[in-house]
Amino acid sequence: MEVAEKSLDVLAIRRQFPVLDQEVNGKPLIYFDNAASSQTALEVIQSLTRFYEKDHANIHRGIHTLAERSTTAYENTRKKVQSFINAAEDAEIIFTKGTTESINLVAHSWGSVNLNQGDEILISQLEHHSNIVPWQLIAKRTGAIIKVIPINENGEILVDKYLELLCDRTKLVAVNYISNSLGIINPIQEIIDKAKSIGATTVIDAAQAAPHLQIDVQALDCDFLAFSSHKMYGPTGVGILYGKRTILESIPPYQGGGEMIKDVSFEGTTFNEIPYKFEAGTPNIGDVIAFKEAMNFIEELGYEEIQAHEHALLQHATNQLNQIDGLRIIGESDSKTSVLSFIVEGIHPYDIGQLLDARGIAVRTGHHCTQPLMDFFGIEGTIRASFSVYNTLEEIDYFCKSLKEIISKFR
Ligand code: PMP
Repeated sequence: MEVAEKSLDVLAIRRQFPVLDQEVNGKPLIYFDNAASSQTALEVIQSLTRFYEKDHANIHRGIHTLAERSTTAYENTRKKVQSFINAAEDAEIIFTKGTTESINLVAHSWGSVNLNQGDEILISQLEHHSNIVPWQLIAKRTGAIIKVIPINENGEILVDKYLELLCDRTKLVAVNYISNSLGIINPIQEIIDKAKSIGATTVIDAAQAAPHLQIDVQALDCDFLAFSSHKMYGPTGVGILYGKRTILESIPPYQGGGEMIKDVSFEGTTFNEIPYKFEAGTPNIGDVIAFKEAMNFIEELGYEEIQAHEHALLQHATNQLNQIDGLRIIGESDSKTSVLSFIVEGIHPYDIGQLLDARGIAVRTGHHCTQPLMDFFGIEGTIRASFSVYNTLEEIDYFCKSLKEIISKFR
């Protein structure tokens, strides 16, 4: 099998993903829907099985051996996340069920005590619905106003317009690190630095960044950063919220219940310390524990090698798609990860998606939870092919050949 980059042993990597070894509709599966959810690494699956076969118990409350084992493993993942994103301490890592819940937590807990009538929240035209709707909900409750940072025709954030929007009413800047629909890497450091210079709080949606880029929250100096395990070869149902200690300590809990309290009486309740103040109820213990293996998997491959491989895949696919008549790539930039969004003149994305599926190729079609972005381009949706460490140049060749054949049937 042809591989894009010598430094990654793609064949060995593919053996770590048993799901890839199957036929779909009579054809070998080609999985190009990685921006929606990546496949799960074998070590992750084995960790999950091990937990349920040997270690399952609720955490933090028990003194018996299994409870101690599961508590230690759960807290070890927290420590692993801390080092993975270079947080100052593990108490700054909160487990949620996904990026969506992480952002809702910030909007609710931070927003309810920090936003007032007329305060401004800046988000970009590129945001996923999960970095739009939570802000709309809290804006409605507090009287805050949402302002949108514009983009150019390529899908790149207009930094000069962003600077014009920043003012003393700006209380929060919430932007994605990498666009899920276009794959464009935003100038996040500059966005954070400028927000900080006027005293605004920053929230970074790193859901698409964490699988592709080394994240260093201390270097970024953001206030909050959110991402999801299931886009990083880990299990579903695990999200991470990083927040600076001083801010986390100053804001109220998101949900009430067990675990997040110190003392409860009918007269009143005192809350647990961070991060437990934000983790009410029994968390997703097994999946959190297994997520550690996903981070190990990424570290063993190395971000540089991942980027080199994915970049080669992106280049190869872009070159071929650019040669197809009537096909338009949406989102073009020198600074991109392995996402290719495109439309084909006169053919509905859904039809192309279905016909690709008939050939075993999984892509995503639609608005990708970014309707305002689709509105900007005046389209309903795109076909999105997103590549990962286990994809090959051969798969891309077959995808492009299939695409040409499908298009020719409509002509
Ligand atoms: N933000 C971005 C940029 C995303 O790509 C996604 C997932 N598509 C989300 C937020 C939401 O993540 P989750 O569904 O894991 O909560």
